[in-house]
Amino acid sequence: MKPAPFSYVRPATVDEALAVLAADPHAKVLAGGQSLVPLLSMRLAQPSTLVDINGLAALASVRTDESGVRIGALARHRQVEADADAWRAQPLLRQALRLVAHPTIRNRGTTLGSVVHADPAAEMPAVVALLGAHVVAASVAGRREVAAADLFVGPLESSLRPDELALELVVPACPPRTGTAIDEVARRHGDYAMCGVAAVVSVGPSGAIETVRAAYLAVSPTPHVLDLSEAFVDGTASERNLDAAAEIASGALDPDSDIHGTADYRRHLAGVLTRRVVRDASARAAAAEPEGAAR
Ligand SMILES: Cc1cc2nc3c(=O)[nH]c(=O)nc-3n(C[C@H](O)[C@H](O)[C@H](O)COP(=O)(O)OP(=O)(O)OC[C@H]3O[C@@H](n4cnc5c(N)ncnc54)[C@H](O)[C@@H]3O)c2cc1C
Repeated sequence: MKPAPFSYVRPATVDEALAVLAADPHAKVLAGGQSLVPLLSMRLAQPSTLVDINGLAALASVRTDESGVRIGALARHRQVEADADAWRAQPLLRQALRLVAHPTIRNRGTTLGSVVHADPAAEMPAVVALLGAHVVAASVAGRREVAAADLFVGPLESSLRPDELALELVVPACPPRTGTAIDEVARRHGDYAMCGVAAVVSVGPSGAIETVRAAYLAVSPTPHVLDLSEAFVDGTASERNLDAAAEIASGALDPDSDIHGTADYRRHLAGVLTRRVVRDASARAAAAEPEGAAR
């Protein structure tokens, strides 16, 4: 199918982009196009204007300091994945990006576009919700910060207004003695997951587990974040504690059935993956060694 007719604008400045968005409430931003273009082709989205931001080169940055990683609206998944400073500051970024689609899609799709697109089956919304990231958004009225916890409203629905352009994603650095991990089950490698789980585990100076948090994708309309610390009161990632964490996760989630899997199967996957990622993240926290540098 072909898209419905639309006007096309390629602004040379952010202010120009904001002016077009302010003037047309049915305009849409085009970043990597990896989600929007298929929606246009199927006529599931019919914007009157496409505001192509690919000329705004200043938004193609990935900048890292001790507080975290700032990812511009035009930074492609692949660019963030390959950035060694970003990986050192927050290893979960690279760990998760490796699971996003295929390399060809990661070469074009943007990390911030994925967050704003708010697909509940996508990896990055769950990751930013887990890490307490925020988005810097701009409109002609000014700039504001939107915490990830307030960003995801429903499937493919974020709390950004139609006149807003997301400029930057700000992801906090991984604190010392903290480990991260993510894993998922998909029908084929690169497909959207039937269930995915990301975890952040922090340990104390003695190596004992202090906090365990996990985020779930593809099992709820928006990313679902759980605090699993209560399963680890003795500070170890013992089989018994991992079982308890898996049980908390399976019990807390209420997934839907679809053609790819039943609700019960997804709940089962959530438990299995919780065990796996919490075990991996706690091993990394104890070793204080992030995974994902080589390749
Ligand atoms: C075959 C295929 C498989 C895929 N598999 C996966 C997968 O397994 N996991 C996964 O996470 N993703 C997957 N994707 C999606 C991919 O990761 C996209 O890159 C991502 O969803 C959107 O980024 P984009 O830059 O392409 O955004 P676009 O497609 O350009 O835009 C998506 C939406 O976000 C809005 N938007 C984008 N940027 C901004 C901005 N700066 N400000 C305001 N609004 C903005 C657009 O208006 C649009 O509504 C897949 C895509 C394809 C085609």
